Amino acid sequence: MTPYSQEAIYIKEFSARTRNKELSELNGKHFQVAIIGGGITGAGLANILAENGISTALFDKADFASGTSAGSSKLIHGGLRYLQQGKLGLTRELLKEREYLLKTTDIVQKLDFRVLIDEYSWGKGELTLGIFLYNVLAGHLKVQKMVKDNLGIPGVRGYFPYYDGLTEDTELVMYNITYAHDRGATCLNYTEITGITKVDGGYSLEYSDRYGVKSGKIIADVVVNCGGPWAKRIRDLYDRNGPKNFSLSKGIHVIVDRKNLNMDYAIAFRSHLDKRQLFIIPREKVVIIGTTDKFVDSPDDFSVPDEDIDYLVNSVRRLFPSISRDKVIGTFSGIRPLFGSGDDPGKISRDFHIDSSAGIIDIYGGKLTSYRAIARKVARIVASELKISIKTKGLPLLGYSRPRDGSRIRHEALYECPLYPEDIALRREAAQIYNPSALPKIMEEAKTVLRSMGK
Ligand SMILES: Cc1cc2nc3c(=O)[nH]c(=O)nc-3n(C[C@H](O)[C@H](O)[C@H](O)COP(=O)(O)OP(=O)(O)OC[C@H]3O[C@@H](n4cnc5c(N)ncnc54)[C@H](O)[C@@H]3O)c2cc1C
Repeated sequence: MTPYSQEAIYIKEFSARTRNKELSELNGKHFQVAIIGGGITGAGLANILAENGISTALFDKADFASGTSAGSSKLIHGGLRYLQQGKLGLTRELLKEREYLLKTTDIVQKLDFRVLIDEYSWGKGELTLGIFLYNVLAGHLKVQKMVKDNLGIPGVRGYFPYYDGLTEDTELVMYNITYAHDRGATCLNYTEITGITKVDGGYSLEYSDRYGVKSGKIIADVVVNCGGPWAKRIRDLYDRNGPKNFSLSKGIHVIVDRKNLNMDYAIAFRSHLDKRQLFIIPREKVVIIGTTDKFVDSPDDFSVPDEDIDYLVNSVRRLFPSISRDKVIGTFSGIRPLFGSGDDPGKISRDFHIDSSAGIIDIYGGKLTSYRAIARKVARIVASELKISIKTKGLPLLGYSRPRDGSRIRHEALYECPLYPEDIALRREAAQIYNPSALPKIMEEAKTVLRSMGK
């Protein structure tokens, strides 16, 4: 249980009903801060600002958590790979966040990993040192030796154990947004920001409601662009001199039934096809295999190319010959917003970059894992622009959580503002990933619940 979960009982309603009421009173309102984007970056920031009593409006053009924050590998991790690239500072910060989240909430659970040693892997010495450093940066002085067990996989000589955190990305976003709403933030899904203009004493933002097709304008003293892969497009609404080195890289995952790969630990290994690191992550009834890393031109390109599915299947098939294309029961994708450029997306930093030189505050890049660190840093910049002092220590809090019983879908409908049955089934429940065979039933239940609430 999270230390805060009791509060869920007292949370105020946040539903289609309350959203439509807030939207009908929105035109012409003034806020201290407007956040564009309801993925994890915007959600974490709204949480801190609302906790500090700052009047905040958060907008998402689609459902909350429908962008990259629905397509991650769901790991709360320091990134062994980033360490191998020499990114010590980034890894340290991510590990600090990992440890905090593992300690304070049950939405992040410990996941045992095994890094396989075979002819394509990093060397034994390199991994001994790497995992030692990984542990030290997380505050544990521990030398890890290779375990001489091939786990029944031909060609494998042994493995190195380590751990990371596993979460549900869309749930993490919703927990932050519901909490921010409860603390007074106006949080509107399906409401796109279509224009940003500098006006006396702030910014005028034009919004367009994609659900009821209302539009209007609000005024904000400070605007924060948390658009993830759309960040450059949002910046262009205001001024077209945004960064030239903002890149987009798509990653896909494939899902197989856990019956086909039944393991209670995750595996990290390198593909024999290109020596990229891949993960095999068991999760409820399925196993998630990912991911790819390929440049794309458009933030809207969530397609899953056949060749990428083949690449993941063939990489895993070397280790587990029973895995073939017909075992794939689902796929999902996400687009990484990366601050940097180059020929290889895998070599571009996963760190975040804040640019407030044009007036509005743009956030480029970042990780799910670093959302709290990003939120604190941006909140301090916001406070200095507002010329106020705020508290950031220990924030953002996860002050809301879902019940784990049969009332969950009704709870989501009342406190997490879904407008369509898909918002419940595909995001709040993510049934297409974790429980594909139950998806039709969950859709039906979501329809019934929303209908009973007047939808
Ligand atoms: C394949 C893959 C695997 C990953 N795995 C991990 C992992 O395991 N661990 C980890 O820590 N990180 C991981 N990441 C990184 C992490 O997922 C992202 O850094 C994070 O989700 C980005 O969140 P965000 O809020 O910045 O962007 P998003 O989640 O994309 O949110 C941006 C939001 O802005 C909205 N928006 C856009 N334009 C407008 C507008 N005009 N008006 C209103 N709203 C607008 C969009 O609808 C969207 O919801 C992964 C990323 C990918 C792609």
